Amino acid sequence: MSRASDSAPVPIAEYVLKVASRCNLACDYCYVYTMADQSWRSRPVLITPDTVLRAARRIAEHAATHRQPVVKVVLHGGEPLLAGRDLLDHVASTVRRELPDTTSVDLRIQTNGVLLDESFLGTFATHGVKVGISLDGTEAQHDEHRVGPAGRGSHADTARAIRLLTRPEYRAHYAGLLCVIDIDHHPVEAYEALLEFEPPVVDFLLPHGNWSAPPPGRVAGDPRTPYADWLIAVFDRWYDAPRQETAVRLFQEVINLLLGGRSRSEQVGAGPVAYLVIDTDGSYQQDDSLKSVRSGEPETGMNIVDHTVDEVLHHPDVRARQLGIESLAADCRRCPLVRVCGGGDYPHRFRAGQGFRNPSVYCPDLQRLIRHVAGRVRADLFAGAGR
Ligand code: SF4
Repeated sequence: MSRASDSAPVPIAEYVLKVASRCNLACDYCYVYTMADQSWRSRPVLITPDTVLRAARRIAEHAATHRQPVVKVVLHGGEPLLAGRDLLDHVASTVRRELPDTTSVDLRIQTNGVLLDESFLGTFATHGVKVGISLDGTEAQHDEHRVGPAGRGSHADTARAIRLLTRPEYRAHYAGLLCVIDIDHHPVEAYEALLEFEPPVVDFLLPHGNWSAPPPGRVAGDPRTPYADWLIAVFDRWYDAPRQETAVRLFQEVINLLLGGRSRSEQVGAGPVAYLVIDTDGSYQQDDSLKSVRSGEPETGMNIVDHTVDEVLHHPDVRARQLGIESLAADCRRCPLVRVCGGGDYPHRFRAGQGFRNPSVYCPDLQRLIRHVAGRVRADLFAGAGR
């Protein structure tokens, strides 16, 4: 019988291309600048046109080898708009030009929005780049965390950018909003503040933390579930709305998994990780959020000049994240929710001295959230069957 560890690696389907290594904000929870890994200090401030071309050719080579019908490329930073309009125009046109005709490119940018203007949006419209913006709920919540170097909140600038993006001529390029959860702020107020901007999709992110450095408000091993309580309030508000006001990726992924589907989210599901970061220096890195764990954790020691993406797939750490349930802690492998939960986001499993073979530090929250969603969906399915 073939084991998962003997199976072929899964091709990379999503790239995070770092175009700038610095940021114009100083958010207090940022894993790039405020946590264990400080490698941004030694990276080039901006990606060079030569690195862009080499990166695009590596992505194209991998797409052709594996006959990929679609590849996602997310332009990221730091703050990617610091790269400027001309460099972003070059990045987008190079990626589109180099990828094979048989592969369509889902090109995106994830920004704090502060610098977003019509000049950038015109470039993104030309190249079909979708724009995701980071907005943390209400103005008070956002401005508590997402501040400029002088400590001033950025909500006003971000709100202006989203209003620009929602104008009819740009609306098609609006990818959605990304919100880091703060359990000290009211969940439904936070969600409704996001809804004011009519996002097509909302992504709620659990703040990064692990067993050795727990996230805010979570005591490692404590059975209380502050994050599930917060998310369940939002879930019920979202699920009970008379019409769907937006897609909430985390909830949709949990429902999808409960119904037997596969997840495309890092936060839930036990599917193989098919995601790779290319930094401004052309190095291949694993998931950026591993910077929250310890210095150097995302490094592969490989780069776009000397290595193909296929070679990165054989890196032991990349390989380990493609093994699904087999690679999880014993508690997770025995867990009745494992197919939906998947052990949670990889960095949240870390414990100093033990590595990543642990349940998520959010385990009680994940259990409670999944059980709540399952109960709501099951009740609806039975009600529908009884009609
Ligand atoms: S993290 Fe917890 S809920 Fe998730 S699979 Fe592991 S034991 Fe189950």
